[in-house]
Amino acid sequence: MAIQPIRLFGDPVLRTPADPVKDFDKELRKLVKDLTDTMMDAPGAGLAAPQIGVGLRVFTYYVDDQLGHLINPNLDLSDEADEEGEEGCLSFPGLSFPTPRALRAVATGFNMHGEPVTLEGTDLMARCFQHETDHLDGVLFIDRMDTKQRKLAMKAIREADWSGLSAPAVKFSPHATHGKAL
Ligand SMILES: [Zn+2]
Repeated sequence: MAIQPIRLFGDPVLRTPADPVKDFDKELRKLVKDLTDTMMDAPGAGLAAPQIGVGLRVFTYYVDDQLGHLINPNLDLSDEADEEGEEGCLSFPGLSFPTPRALRAVATGFNMHGEPVTLEGTDLMARCFQHETDHLDGVLFIDRMDTKQRKLAMKAIREADWSGLSAPAVKFSPHATHGKAL
């Protein structure tokens, strides 16, 4: 096990676009293992490399008992959307908010051995692929919310006990995300 500390909102690494993987080597396989171990320990439904401070285009997922990873992902999204689904993020502990996402996603990329992979997801799996690929672009789920929802989210974030955005004044009671944070 090689569980890594998860970077929280406010850490600049979460706003830095990650680089494509070029070398499918031992180091990459260790990164996939670290991501997997850290995600399962959290527990979470997905984790992207920047969330453990690594600027490479790699994420892992654990949705509907399916465990996997994807490298250098590309997404093809459905027009049909899920506007109301709740979404959490391991970099925003204890918080989840309605976040609009495409209902279906086809993700293409590579596995850690450099072999091409195509993954199809609906609902939470599709949401996960979108959320994690966003992380690789330095995009966070708060960016996907409408203005009103983002304001509510930012207020909850400022009040969260892990937040460095303001002095801790209000004790916030997080509602559980049931291991579905991404
Ligand atoms: Zn996340």
